Amino acid sequence: MTYIRRVLEQLRAKNPNEPEFLQAAEEILTSLGPVAERHPEYEKAALLERFTEPERVVLFRVPWVDDTGAVRVNRGYRVQFNSAIGPYKGGLRFHPSVNLSIIKFLGLEQILKNSLTGLPIGGGKGGSDFDPKGKSDMEVMRFCQSFMTELYRHIGQDTDVPAGDIGVGGREIGYLFGQYKRIRDEHVGVLTGRGLSYGGSLARTEATGYGLVYMTEEAMRCRGDGFKGKTVVISGAGNVAIYACEKAQALGAKVVAMYDSDGYIYDREGIKLDVVKTIKEAERGRIREYAARVKGAEYHEGCRGIWGIPCDVALPCATQNELGGASAELLVKNGVKYVGEGANMPTTPEGIEVFRRAGTVFLPAKAANAGGVATSALEMAQSSGRMFWTFSEVDEKLRGIMVNIYRNMDRAAREYGAEGDYVAGANIAGFLKVADAMMAQGIV
Ligand code: NDP
Repeated sequence: MTYIRRVLEQLRAKNPNEPEFLQAAEEILTSLGPVAERHPEYEKAALLERFTEPERVVLFRVPWVDDTGAVRVNRGYRVQFNSAIGPYKGGLRFHPSVNLSIIKFLGLEQILKNSLTGLPIGGGKGGSDFDPKGKSDMEVMRFCQSFMTELYRHIGQDTDVPAGDIGVGGREIGYLFGQYKRIRDEHVGVLTGRGLSYGGSLARTEATGYGLVYMTEEAMRCRGDGFKGKTVVISGAGNVAIYACEKAQALGAKVVAMYDSDGYIYDREGIKLDVVKTIKEAERGRIREYAARVKGAEYHEGCRGIWGIPCDVALPCATQNELGGASAELLVKNGVKYVGEGANMPTTPEGIEVFRRAGTVFLPAKAANAGGVATSALEMAQSSGRMFWTFSEVDEKLRGIMVNIYRNMDRAAREYGAEGDYVAGANIAGFLKVADAMMAQGIV
């Protein structure tokens, strides 16, 4: 039995109730076969066994009081997965579906993503099964304060620096930061995604969506192609989706569809992003309201139908496993040429296989959405240097990082006999640096 297969079997036996974690681990380890063959020393050092076991998992109770005076209890998580190349870094997700399997899958992916950015950041992830939807500002604040009252003892600017993710945006980061500062009495860069008035970086809000489009643009450029005149479908209507839409439109594409978890909008004339921003950012409303405000736009209940809309470029930017095999078949049948993952693991293994067989250019999340964490690392650099860069300085660095990641994963794929397979390329390029650091630091 190969080393990879043995580690995978052990993982399945040890974590039988963690399907998302096993899905991510399987995808990563399968691509690392040729690496393990070239480096027999990894097996001796049980490198993959250590790589797939978090350094630390913190699980805690989060009690809070709602507006009616009722006591509520949620569960909080922080998985500190790997600190070989820098302090743990990765977002916090607040969503009712959050459990240990989801946080571990996100944490494992984050290790390689952070490594790909070329910046000194390790991998971690956290969150809670708390649902901010439908809660008042005061309820969200009380929840965040309770969450931080436990989390503060596990994080720090040189130890672990959380950020946002699904359900954690500027409002939540503000409340979390306020409580950290109050308890520790220190104004430091312990969270990223902060507001501009208290240490945030320009272009952090836009970074993941912009970065996704920069990488897709680079993949197009290498094929003599570009965004101009392309039809684009984007799933999600949150932070990543909105700024992917903004940049794709700026480059001359027509974005025709977006969704939230209730249903999707289809606007043949091209999405009016200012309307989406008003609904989602200012009003915290539902995407269905778009169809009531924009003449000619359609709203369809349910999400899956979005993948039946003909497009050249698909950018899944909502959540894990939102694009399955049947949806991928539909996209291919309708002529999709590029798929860039803005969300984490939005495409199922069956979907990835469909794109691979069809020769679709497929840009995997850990590379394509790394712009967010890369800009978070730029926020950390600005915080510790007590200085701030302009929007265009940060944006330029972001673009450079995304182009660099594309080149590195492309090169790694070629070097390991998998030309054009960016899933393998991203996994290998991200892993080699972490492996090198882990080997150098001994058995820890
Ligand atoms: P937001 O909370 O801002 O937006 C999430 C969007 O996805 C919302 O429109 C939400 O709809 C929709 N959504 C969530 N769950 C589902 C579901 N089960 N079915 C259909 N739609 C769903 O999150 P972000 O934009 O920040 O994150 C989106 C993805 O990008 C996540 O996978 C995240 O891990 C990833 N990511 C985010 C980064 C960032 O910088 N923010 C960085 C790297 C990756 P609704 O409002 O109805 O719930």
